[in-house]
Amino acid sequence: MKQSPIVTHPPLPNNYAPEFLVLDKGEGVYLTDTAGKSYLDFGSGIAVNALGYGREDLAETGYRQMQKLIHSSNLYTTEPTLSLAKRMTKMGKFAADEAVEYGCTLLTHTKVRDIIVENGVAVGVRAKGRGGQRYEVNGNAVVCCSGGIGTTPILKRAGMYTAGSSFTGDPSIMMFGFLKEGRGPGYEHQMMIGNYDDEHGVLLSGGIAAPFFTWFTLHLQSDGLRALRDIGRYSKVVGVWTKVHDDGEGRVGLDERVSKTWTSDDLDKIDYAKVMLEKVLIKGGCNPDEIYSSTKVIGHPSGTAPIGKVVDSNLETQIKNLYCCDTSVMPEAPGRPPTWTVVSLAKRLAGRLEKVV
Ligand SMILES: Cc1cc2nc3c(=O)[nH]c(=O)nc-3n(C[C@H](O)[C@H](O)[C@H](O)COP(=O)(O)OP(=O)(O)OC[C@H]3O[C@@H](n4cnc5c(N)ncnc54)[C@H](O)[C@@H]3O)c2cc1C
Repeated sequence: MKQSPIVTHPPLPNNYAPEFLVLDKGEGVYLTDTAGKSYLDFGSGIAVNALGYGREDLAETGYRQMQKLIHSSNLYTTEPTLSLAKRMTKMGKFAADEAVEYGCTLLTHTKVRDIIVENGVAVGVRAKGRGGQRYEVNGNAVVCCSGGIGTTPILKRAGMYTAGSSFTGDPSIMMFGFLKEGRGPGYEHQMMIGNYDDEHGVLLSGGIAAPFFTWFTLHLQSDGLRALRDIGRYSKVVGVWTKVHDDGEGRVGLDERVSKTWTSDDLDKIDYAKVMLEKVLIKGGCNPDEIYSSTKVIGHPSGTAPIGKVVDSNLETQIKNLYCCDTSVMPEAPGRPPTWTVVSLAKRLAGRLEKVV
């Protein structure tokens, strides 16, 4: 097998990578180095220019522009910069901008305290601005989306005392080890690859040790000041993490304080995930005597106003026209990053509101 051309440091400075892989060309999603070895590219240049390689159309456009101007710094503006900015503003409008465009009034830095209920129907909210201004906002429906924790006190104050009597959190553990030989991917992206082990209720993934600061904080937590002796070994670090589908034992109070109880099932799942991750690290070449693990942290606060208990399948509460739409409605721990689910629920609810409001 041809040896890949790895160059160490000078003449280039040691920026992210301790060594440089010398790339030659690319086509589609594949890259080839100067020794002819090809790679499936998951990185796409640190989240920039994920456009695919070897594209004639891009090359032609670039060529035409370069004949006129290449780089003018951000001290000056060029026509292409302006036209791209206009297109991006049009395409990438924030949802809030769009809401305002369609007639919504947006109150930022404003905390909702109470739901206004008349004859069992939600007709508005009372809120307080950062400067102490009080607002009363009325509407045909109220959608509470203050998150897995923030929704609880609002519902409790509206008389839904069961809100917050469960709490799921996808406890996460991060682990890392030091490679016995070679260099680790410490400087690479996080969460490039994940494996959902639904049978055991765990998500196993790679890459949490990047960047250096994250890793070092984690090391300090798990090994105290002894971590200092490893500062120069970051290039040997391989990191992995897990999120665990927990049982939902816990509470959120009126003051938004959270208490979480770990069931024996939760702890078994966490132990299982740790054993699996340790195996991954060792199999990947890490020294078995130097595997470190973080403590549990709550990953996704959720499940405080679950579907079937506090809201119905249309996300409506026992108070007519009062809806919830955030991670609080999860009937069980998401066991995985929940944003798409929340967005999907919001789209579904928007369709319903169009009909009922
Ligand atoms: C560091 C980090 C990384 C993450 N990475 C991912 C990821 O890669 N993928 C993924 O899917 N998820 C990720 N998550 C989780 C994800 O961000 C959350 O699960 C998601 O944002 C929850 O959405 P939500 O609508 O339930 O609540 P939030 O996004 O928390 O929104 C609730 C909003 O309500 C506001 N609020 C609270 N109380 C009140 C009140 N009384 N009045 C008015 N407003 C109020 C809050 O300020 C907040 O803006 C990550 C979270 C963190 C912290």
